Amino acid sequence: MADDRPLRTSLRIGAALTPLAMLAAACGGGGGDPADFPDDNIEIVVPFSAGGPTDTVTRMIAEPMSEELGVEIIIQNVEGAGGTVAAGQVAEADPDGYTVLMHHIGMSTAPTLYPDLPFDPLADFQTVGLVTEVPMTIIARKDFQPATLEELISYVEANEDKVTYANAGIGSASHLCGVLLQQAMGVKLQEVPYDGTAPAMADILGGQVDFMCDQTTNTTAQINEGKVKAYAVTTTERVESLPDLPTTAEGGLADVEVSVWHGLYVPADTPEEVVTKLTDALAAALEDQSVIDEMAKLGTAPVEPERVTPEEHTTVLEEQVASWGETLEGIEAE
Ligand code: ASP
Repeated sequence: MADDRPLRTSLRIGAALTPLAMLAAACGGGGGDPADFPDDNIEIVVPFSAGGPTDTVTRMIAEPMSEELGVEIIIQNVEGAGGTVAAGQVAEADPDGYTVLMHHIGMSTAPTLYPDLPFDPLADFQTVGLVTEVPMTIIARKDFQPATLEELISYVEANEDKVTYANAGIGSASHLCGVLLQQAMGVKLQEVPYDGTAPAMADILGGQVDFMCDQTTNTTAQINEGKVKAYAVTTTERVESLPDLPTTAEGGLADVEVSVWHGLYVPADTPEEVVTKLTDALAAALEDQSVIDEMAKLGTAPVEPERVTPEEHTTVLEEQVASWGETLEGIEAE
């Protein structure tokens, strides 16, 4: 379960350093002339636990991005407060392109949910590009009584005080889906917060918590192997990798529709030339056939190539900050 400490775990991915980059790294390089970018390792900060869905998507793109940029990419998991600890850290990093944030829909909900948020998602970051949009699934421990979404609705309504719902912290995608579920069902559930949905999944598998919503990038294998019960996918269309799973609308919860968009960010004031190199590397990674195949197996796909731009990413972020602001009005993290 979550505690208040931000955690950091890291993994190095990718290209061996060129002699020039090794020299730069030895001299504490990076942050020099944008024309030389990158001449040092790049760190991508992931705001949730290793092994979870946001981390999985980051690892998928890190290797091809590393090859494209010719330097190593180091993934740092900095957990806590629904992703806001990691985002706050990157907002304060040097604006040189060497510290990159991977975040998801939670970037757009944080301003509404956290009244004392120490950063502004729109003013303190430069968008690099959208990565993917991932459907969520409503899943439960294998021996949870309800068998269908309709049964889940009546069971939760009748057992509101007993049922437990896992989330990855206030503002996480699992929390947002839980808000929509509770609004639609008219209930108030006991929510159990984790540092990410990798540990939440471990407790679903172990039977310590009843149910949750999570991205298909974390649930597809567990559903297809029958290790968890699955009720619905939260998109308007069914997902190819889970063809038997009905949509929330088919099961009577049309208002529970959420798709978890992910994007890369750097601190505001990062030179345009540097941002363009990162965007180009991201775009190349998303056109890599092995990334496309891996994503398809997990129920998702890269965003269309023409949408991998800072401008499109900013437009989506602005729209989402506004629309979640309305949906979440009156809800605040303590
Ligand atoms: N799926 C998580 C969420 O609910 C985050 C994660 O662990 O990647 O936002």
